[in-house]
Amino acid sequence: MSKKTLHKLISARRVVQGVFAAAIYGALTLLQLPLLYILAAGAGLGLVFGKVFCRWMCPIGFVIEFLLRRKGNSAEQMYMYHKLGCPIAWVSGFLNRSSLFSIQRDFDSCTDCGLCDKTCYITSLNSEYSHFKPGKKSPVSAYSCSRCLECVSACPQNSLSYSLD
Ligand code: SF4
Ligand code: SF4
Repeated sequence: MSKKTLHKLISARRVVQGVFAAAIYGALTLLQLPLLYILAAGAGLGLVFGKVFCRWMCPIGFVIEFLLRRKGNSAEQMYMYHKLGCPIAWVSGFLNRSSLFSIQRDFDSCTDCGLCDKTCYITSLNSEYSHFKPGKKSPVSAYSCSRCLECVSACPQNSLSYSLD
């Protein structure tokens, strides 16, 4: 996927999440799909994409993010929400460390401006983490990274990408 397409997708994330959330809610309520299937699919997606279910597909996540945004969407609330999670979040968050797709930084084009860290609720709250500072832990591998890709979107140099590891 080109960077331009990826950025368009990131800017449409809430729409994508809304569509998936409605489809999953419909499958559970109208089609009586067993919840276990959704749990298994959400956790399985973690193997490929990391913890994408929460911010791109989850009906509960869709509502919670809507409520947090109305209240100002503080980084702390978002961080706490993604630290707690549900069984899908627990499994897929653990898989953030080894998922096939991950957030990569191009060291050559990065200017160390720090905008990615300011955008991310993990790095903005916890100084142990940074996208670019040497000697810090990467937020991308953290359990609480919800693959919102806001760090990718924030980078003015296009130095961050979401691609095969
Ligand atoms: S926003 Fe981009 S250029 Fe700035 S520090 Fe982060 S990765 Fe580097
Ligand atoms: S995708 Fe980027 S901005 Fe979002 S939580 Fe993960 S590291 Fe932070």
